[in-house]
Amino acid sequence: MPFPIKICVVCEEEFELRPDKPGFANRCPKCSTPEVDEQASSKARMDADELKSVREANAARRQAIKDLLYSRK
Ligand SMILES: [Zn+2]
Repeated sequence: MPFPIKICVVCEEEFELRPDKPGFANRCPKCSTPEVDEQASSKARMDADELKSVREANAARRQAIKDLLYSRK
């Protein structure tokens, strides 16, 4: 399915407006990239930290369950 063709407001190049295109709908991917990258990397860092704490919590819970199971023979 073809995507709608838009004109970038920054460089005036035509680009496909894909539904998953990051950044502004009226800018081509090239002109949206710097801001998007910044947001994406800071978000990725946050997610990694969150993921780490979630993983640690899960590991702690698994360990607690394991202790419980093994101590209760
Ligand atoms: Zn552009």
